Formats: sequence, structure tokens, C-alpha cells
Amino acid sequence: MPLSEPQLQRVLDDIAQTAAASEDKGKVADYIPDLARIDPNRFAIAVALPGKPTLHAGDAHAPFSIQSVSKVFTLALALGKVGDRLWNRVGREPSGQAFDSIIQLEQEKGRPRNPFINAGAIVTTDTVLEGATPRETLGALLRFVRAAAGDDDIHMNESVAQSEIATGHRNFALAHYLLSHGNLRNAPELTLGTYFHQCAIEMTCAQLAKAGQFLTGVPGAPRMVSQNRVRRINALMMTCGHYDGSGEYAYRVGLPGKSGVGGGILTIVPGIASVAVWSPGLDHYGNSKLGTQAMQTLAEKTGWSVF
Ligand code: GLU
Repeated sequence: MPLSEPQLQRVLDDIAQTAAASEDKGKVADYIPDLARIDPNRFAIAVALPGKPTLHAGDAHAPFSIQSVSKVFTLALALGKVGDRLWNRVGREPSGQAFDSIIQLEQEKGRPRNPFINAGAIVTTDTVLEGATPRETLGALLRFVRAAAGDDDIHMNESVAQSEIATGHRNFALAHYLLSHGNLRNAPELTLGTYFHQCAIEMTCAQLAKAGQFLTGVPGAPRMVSQNRVRRINALMMTCGHYDGSGEYAYRVGLPGKSGVGGGILTIVPGIASVAVWSPGLDHYGNSKLGTQAMQTLAEKTGWSVF
């Protein structure tokens, strides 16, 4: 029996209370100076059920840095622009490596394993940027995210973007490596400037849950991409959305999700809902520790799973 909305609300309230009481909240990302300052005690969860009011608990109207969750939206844009030609430049396999690893890129001659590890996301952003300026590209991305969320009050945090431009040495290394293999079409500074700004989009959990609705396939949800593409993006989120912790997320939660080092996770319950959770402390994979725990509890209490 599906939970009623009041029952679901009680589950969300319990999850937020348990998170607040949790002693081990993980470790906030400190390699991006602006993220290192975020209070690890923040927590929010929001469930968007298309056609119904969004349910939420915790700081669900506090904006946070969505970081790699943005890669889902850029992937949708890139597929819209070049279709399956994207797969000539990036693969569709889990990497089993850290999000910023360069090892595989060397072994596999500059073709990143998937569009969600940093190297693959840089290629995806480079694809959207081709033939356009960074301003136009970021404008198109913001328009897409705002339309998906049905909310124009979504912006990029310039200070977070500049903070990554100043310290993102590994991403610069990845971009130059891609360039040396002929898999970067724009100057590394341009592609990375665009990528860092895309990662610096801020959204609240309520906004992010709504923005994910286009991936639920529920009639009445915003239709931003074809149903065929909805399925493919979900498949990639399931297999690659949590880097080398993707198997763990599939095992514990059983739903397609995409994490970001800001502590956000967007999870899709195909045919039912889109869920956003935010807890800034990360586990050793770089995925939100309590966010994953919260999603595991939500999946257990609701019975939501693709399996
Ligand atoms: N902007 C971050 C980076 O490139 C994104 C990583 C993430 O959120 O997992 O390092």
C-alpha cells in the first residue's frame, strides 16, 4: 500500500530528526574553500510528487551548492544538442574510481568512462559549449534548470565558481589530458570556467526535487527530454551517479541518484517521485553520508525501489 501524504510527511520528519541527532555526519568537502565553510549540521529533504505539493522536512528552502548534481542537467542538454554522438567522446560504464581520478583516462586514451565522473562531465560541458560562448551555454543551462523546477529564482554562486577556478588543479589536469588526446574542442580555461560555474548553481532541496521531476516519467511532470532519454539518463544515474560508491547506493537505496560534493543527492523514483536530500558531510567516496542514510530509510519505509 502506498503511504498517504501525511504518512510520508511523518517519515520525512523522522528522517530529519534522526539526522539532527546523528553524531557522525561525515566530513564537509574542504578542497573547495567556499564549501569548507558550510555548517555540517544543515539537513534537508524534499519529495516532489508531480501534480501535488512538494513535501519536505529540515532546511528545505536553504540554497546549497548542487555541484555534480548539475551534471545530470548538462547531460540532458548535451544529448539534446548532439544526440548519440556524445558517446563517441565519453563512455557509459561505471568507473570504479574516484570522481576526480586521472588513472583511467590515461589507460583509456582520453575517453572518460562516463559523463558523471569529472573527466566525462568536462567533455559533456565542452560538447554543450562548442559553437557558443560560456555565457550563452550557462544561460541555456540555467533556463533548462529553471524550467524543470518551474522556478526562476535559481542562480550561480560566483564566489564558489571563482573558488574552484583558483584551486581546481585536478580538473585542469584532466582538461589538459583530454586536450592532449584531442577530446576537448574548446580552450581548457573556457570549458573549465563553464564547468565550474555549472557546479556552482545553488538550489534548495525543494527546488532540486522539483527540477528532477522531468526524469520521473510521470504524466504531468515537465517534459524536457524524450521518454527514451529519461530511461537512459536514469540508467546512467543508477550505474555511475555516485562514482565508486554507485554499487553501494544501488544496494542500499535501489534507485537512480546523482550526488554532489556540496552534500546534495537527487534521486529519482521512476513513475512516482523526485527526491532531493542535502547534508554537507561526505563519506569516503565523496557522497553525502547522512543523505545516503536518509534515502535508504526513505526507500525502506516507502518500499520505493526499481528492483
Ligand atoms: N565541482 C566539483 C569538482 O569538479 C564537483 C565534484 C562533485 O560534486 O562530485 O571537483
